[in-house]
Amino acid sequence: MFETYYPKRFCKEFVAAKGDSLQLTMIMAVVMGLKPAMDDWVPAQRFDAYQKACRKYGLFVETDAVFQITPENNIPLNTVGRQQLSTTKAFGSLYKKGQKKGAVHVFLSRSKDHLRQAFANGWYPLIIKNRVVDRPLADTFRYGQCLGYPACCIRFFQSHNNWYRFSYLHEAYLNTASKKGSFLCNPFNKDLAYSYIYHMPCSYRCPKTARWASRVKDLITSEEPEFARSIDFHLKRPYLVFYEQKYYAFDGVLKDRRLFYKKAFFSGGVKDNNLYERQLETGDCLFIEGKDIVILKKGRIVERIKPSEKGFAPETPFIVDFS
Ligand SMILES: [Zn+2]
Repeated sequence: MFETYYPKRFCKEFVAAKGDSLQLTMIMAVVMGLKPAMDDWVPAQRFDAYQKACRKYGLFVETDAVFQITPENNIPLNTVGRQQLSTTKAFGSLYKKGQKKGAVHVFLSRSKDHLRQAFANGWYPLIIKNRVVDRPLADTFRYGQCLGYPACCIRFFQSHNNWYRFSYLHEAYLNTASKKGSFLCNPFNKDLAYSYIYHMPCSYRCPKTARWASRVKDLITSEEPEFARSIDFHLKRPYLVFYEQKYYAFDGVLKDRRLFYKKAFFSGGVKDNNLYERQLETGDCLFIEGKDIVILKKGRIVERIKPSEKGFAPETPFIVDFS
């Protein structure tokens, strides 16, 4: 599960250049003209090969800063805005040709105009010369438009992307009337290769998202049918979600709010957040009681997970089924 995907033909040059298949479906969507623009990270020493792949597929590419990811204790205490940094902390510098270290942040598009707009509005917080440079709020929303996200999802993001007040993914769940997800609106593999969308939808059955994702799926099916099958396989399953950077995909079925499973896969965000794999492995069934995850083995309770209580990035666990 969730291994690097190597396309047989279509867009294989990008995977070869980057050394991974992260955001492969988004690259395909831009190449096929379904998505106006995107951004991506490329290891600096592989940037030439990546640029060549862009040329081959008719994409314009613009380099932003080079990111040098750093552990928190490496950041000088006198850095202005230090506390504003999100989970990814990085020093930024301009890209120089032939550079070997760091990851180049790039924007891609088939149109120079869309590329210019994405570049103007696409920001990530990073440290430049002892100061944290962060995005103006207005640009965040304009950027969603540049990336081709549905207006309903941009609006929902605008009102619920507050890491002190909400768990965004749980708000999207509350906004899902039937509580049953459509695999086309499953955002949980977005940072891996196996997703048709890259935005967090306003609901797990958002009609606009589903329509767009099904066009992406159709085009991938015509170019790389095996890949489309593999994406579906990864998406069509239940997920246990804690917050944006901690969630698990299951080989299992959800019945009467109990999740019966053979295996759990951590697919969410930062690897250090995979705190519960061992506990999940001890069981074969789980359910949510209050905020606790109760784990059973052959009908007997074997573990109880209490999610972290914190003011920032609150955790409200829920199970959403996309099968
Ligand atoms: Zn929506």
